[in-house]
Amino acid sequence: MPRRRIAVVGGSLGGLTAACLLRDAGHDVVVFERSSRELEERGAGIGFLSATAKYLVERAGLDVGTISIETPFIRYLNRDDSVASEEAHPYLFSSWNTVYRRLLESFDIDRYRLAHEMVGFVASGGAPGPSASSDSGDSVSVDFANGTSYDCELLVCADGIGSIARAKLQPEAAAAYAGYVAWRGMVPEANLPTAVVDRLGDAITYFVYANSHILVYPIPNVAGSVAPGDRLLNFVWYRNYAEGDDLGDLLTDRTGTRRELSVPPGAMAPHHEAEARAVAAARLPPTIAAVVDATEELFVQSIYDIEVEAMAFGRVCLLGDSAFAVRPHAAAGTAKAADDGWALAAALDAHESLDDALAAWEATQLKLGRSLLERTREVGSRSQVTNTWVPGAPDTIFGLHRPGD
Ligand SMILES: Cc1cc2nc3c(=O)[nH]c(=O)nc-3n(C[C@H](O)[C@H](O)[C@H](O)COP(=O)(O)OP(=O)(O)OC[C@H]3O[C@@H](n4cnc5c(N)ncnc54)[C@H](O)[C@@H]3O)c2cc1C
Repeated sequence: MPRRRIAVVGGSLGGLTAACLLRDAGHDVVVFERSSRELEERGAGIGFLSATAKYLVERAGLDVGTISIETPFIRYLNRDDSVASEEAHPYLFSSWNTVYRRLLESFDIDRYRLAHEMVGFVASGGAPGPSASSDSGDSVSVDFANGTSYDCELLVCADGIGSIARAKLQPEAAAAYAGYVAWRGMVPEANLPTAVVDRLGDAITYFVYANSHILVYPIPNVAGSVAPGDRLLNFVWYRNYAEGDDLGDLLTDRTGTRRELSVPPGAMAPHHEAEARAVAAARLPPTIAAVVDATEELFVQSIYDIEVEAMAFGRVCLLGDSAFAVRPHAAAGTAKAADDGWALAAALDAHESLDDALAAWEATQLKLGRSLLERTREVGSRSQVTNTWVPGAPDTIFGLHRPGD
């Protein structure tokens, strides 16, 4: 296997996992991240599927119990807090922050370049990178907003849902707003009544009602502690907003700035935050409403389906959310990004030719992206559109390749 000079653009979970794996395989890897400081602020919870955990467990040698929390039950509540259904099913939950920190520790910090926002790339031979030319050339020059550039043999674009690489390579890729957003928040267990922590701390807890659902689960705190009492309770509450003014007003922050995809903690317009708290009190089971109420700063992320027709374009490829962004109902977004990285490293190992490696990689990862997109779209429409979500239905179990896997 030839040693390749590889640039990974986007230093979040997908980019970092791929970078670690490609570095482990002997390649010369540098990560370029647009943020000017390490991405510590994103403490929200993630369902922690095995593909997301795999690098940290198998290569970094971490005990999964130190970076995630196992919940033994899937529980659905009724409006009055009584249990509608409960089944024994273990899940692991972690936080974006915990996983990011551990992946960064596993990479080489001097090869993680902050304040490098990619603004374009050009394939050798003069064809602009975005041309999606089938001529792979033998190098790609990546340009950054800070005026620098970097030449590589392979450019891995892990630049997320708003990927500029996707916009250039696949301008026709459909980015379809799902019709709803996720209201989110995290609360220290210590800030909640004991009865609430006791009821919600050992499960993923759902409440499903007309055209909406909310789920709550425990996650590590911002410092990474998984000790009971130190943890956070994390909620994700899916609510419908019509495209246009309805969504536009929600995404207009407290300073009057219209955000594109999300409004971060501390920036929500007060009238929306007050409305969400009032609806929680009026319509959610009291224990779940207590979590929403105790959250200091609510935030919102809009939900999109994004699908590409190709993931490899000469010597440039799209990985993670920069290729397929899927609804969160399988808790598999970071797992898919990680799987793209594992498969890429394996394909480079298996093929002498970079073109052959990328072609083989693209075939399997396109299939994965499509199947996950289709499954999450269908599950989401049950709660948000057709009101046909059945509590405890086996096909609502989280999983990357299929429910439960
Ligand atoms: C409500 C919600 C709940 C979710 N729940 C889960 C869950 O439970 N489990 C799970 O696994 N997934 C979940 N996800 C999905 C998960 O967050 C994403 O799939 C995952 O973050 C994608 O990782 P990524 O590395 O591909 O992209 P991102 O995390 O979006 O990272 C992209 C990175 O690229 C950088 N970047 C962007 N543009 C440039 C540029 N031009 N130059 C340089 N750098 C750039 C960004 O700063 C960022 O660091 C959820 C998503 C949402 C919205």
